[in-house]
Amino acid sequence: MKKSDSLPSAMALRAVLLLERLARLVRAEAHAGGIAPAQWEALRYLSRANRFSRTPAALADYLGATRGTVSQTLIALEDKGLVRKAESSRDRRSVELSLTPAGKAMLEHDAAKDIARDVDASGEARALAQALEAALHQALERRGGRAFGVCRTCRHFRPGSKTHHCTLLDAALSDADAGQVCFEHA
Ligand code: SF4
Repeated sequence: MKKSDSLPSAMALRAVLLLERLARLVRAEAHAGGIAPAQWEALRYLSRANRFSRTPAALADYLGATRGTVSQTLIALEDKGLVRKAESSRDRRSVELSLTPAGKAMLEHDAAKDIARDVDASGEARALAQALEAALHQALERRGGRAFGVCRTCRHFRPGSKTHHCTLLDAALSDADAGQVCFEHA
């Protein structure tokens, strides 16, 4: 029997439904802040993505959204003064996105943090994050999506004593870079 034909366990299905309800809570509270859920997702991504990954195309891949949808989201965030676009320093045909100080301040009030505190209260935050990460990677692999993992867990990452190195992009990486997510993660 193919894996996709097998029935999931009742516990796994319960976990997915609980995730759906938690996500709904985050989205409902986000709306109360006057920012649409997709806009929050873009702000969160830009706060975690490394300098190679803060582009509209990478954001679209991360969200599993079309370029057109992401473009509308970014226009709304620019209009609100939360995100800015600039010509990429690496590729003049591309734009680089960044959070403005107002965008960073907005993230201080992210409803996802409230739910994260509830997860912390369970005492199982680390185990839960690891289990969900593994499940997400499997789901993305099946769909041909990119994993967007944290840099220091990438096979192209070479740690150093002061700076680190990316063998794929031949670039120096700081400690802060090492903790950010990347669209080239492998
Ligand atoms: S080491 Fe991997 S995750 Fe880090 S910048 Fe290079 S490709 Fe991206």
